[in-house]
Amino acid sequence: MKKIPRKSLITLFISLLLLGNHPVFSAPAEDLLPDIGTTAGATLSINQEIAIGDSYIRSIRAQSPLIYDPLLTQYINKLGQRLVEHADSVKTPFHFYLLNNPNINAYAFFGGNVVLHSALLRYSRNESELASVIAHEISHVTQRHLARLIEDQQRKSPLAWAGALGSILLMMANPQAGIAALSGTLAGFQQNMISFTQANEQEADRIGIRTLSRAGFDQNGMPNFMQILADQSRYSSKLPQMLYTHPLPDSRLADARNRANQYPAKTVPESQDFLFARVRLSIMYSNEGLPYIHQLLDKYHQGTAKERLAAAYGRAILLVKDKKYAEANTILAPLMDKHPDNVWFIDAMTDINIGQKQYTSAITRLQEALNKQKNNPILQINLADAYFQASQYPQASQLLYRYTFNNPNDLIGWKLLREALGKQGKSGEELAAYAEVMALQDEFDMAVDYLSKASKLAKLGSDAQARYDARIDQLRQLQQSYSQYKK
Ligand SMILES: [Zn+2]
Repeated sequence: MKKIPRKSLITLFISLLLLGNHPVFSAPAEDLLPDIGTTAGATLSINQEIAIGDSYIRSIRAQSPLIYDPLLTQYINKLGQRLVEHADSVKTPFHFYLLNNPNINAYAFFGGNVVLHSALLRYSRNESELASVIAHEISHVTQRHLARLIEDQQRKSPLAWAGALGSILLMMANPQAGIAALSGTLAGFQQNMISFTQANEQEADRIGIRTLSRAGFDQNGMPNFMQILADQSRYSSKLPQMLYTHPLPDSRLADARNRANQYPAKTVPESQDFLFARVRLSIMYSNEGLPYIHQLLDKYHQGTAKERLAAAYGRAILLVKDKKYAEANTILAPLMDKHPDNVWFIDAMTDINIGQKQYTSAITRLQEALNKQKNNPILQINLADAYFQASQYPQASQLLYRYTFNNPNDLIGWKLLREALGKQGKSGEELAAYAEVMALQDEFDMAVDYLSKASKLAKLGSDAQARYDARIDQLRQLQQSYSQYKK
């Protein structure tokens, strides 16, 4: 597609939204939007929102390439939670997911679930820019923009509301597909929800900038990242996905710039973790190939002290990826001496040890690190994996029982537990762990099937059998309550 049609596409969306007759355009700039969500609150309670969000994230797990890397997951969630702590009107817990996708996009949906495309890390030049997108999404949630859109639709056509939910969620996840659906029978119905209204966007920007600043980030990250999006839509052949659902007319950028200027200027120190995360993502998950990776590492190699450290880390994990463990060790060992508690380095050194079959070194280092950083999920998963690789399966499953108890929605934990139990011939428990893997991916029937098998294997009247049967009841209940939100 060329330049002009894309521009007119955005204009078309905005016009459609204006046709939607939202009275909020008259709201004074400083005021919040009228809280129509509360009056319509009866249609969607917070508990319902949490249920819808949980249901939807299960299908995302099943269908989309989420990145389950413990380091990156932890990084994104720490960053997100830091913003949530400085946001107002937080009514649900928040969860942040990283999706492997080269298009810039982010979307938030019910239950405080925020999905970030990996391209956001690729194109953000600093952590404040990345944080600005997350802060904007958090604000859509706290201001209940999505709930209001749906409640609005429900008022207009009550019978179609379940379908509306499906299409709006599809729209958030995959704007192009959502647009294709416009030609469907529900066309007129969907037009109003094709994107957030301009008023909603400006409110999310305004509140997002406040959150950003309060959390100690540079508030200019917001307009600066918008500029990246605007440039991409102007000069590249593909419109950033994010602009389909979050329209960006020039006025929005100008408003964000003005808004950011109202906060005192501050110098925000460069984030080391942001640099590590960027390097790790490009090496482990991007499809851009070696030239891009080397360009990034070379740039960092000539940069600040923090950038040089990130470049060294990058060179080490690149060597690990190529199974050149001795060379990787030469780079990483001095870094570990200087930064013994750094989880990025400990994680890479564990890979080196395991690659060289030095399991005891890996296990000892991780145990020591866990004594200092209790319950650190990255270290726990690494230790469980090291036990597993060392064929110490009982130690692995013992640790993973604890881990999955504390992190019940962590797919990786359940998968590893299942494997460790399988190696020990504990068929019933293996099936029960596999059931959790399935349930997390929206496969409730299969999950119940595995648990039923586990129940049959268990001794009649045993505690294990009672546990499997109780879990079957729970999952059936969840499945039933979620079925009303499906198309
Ligand atoms: Zn938005």
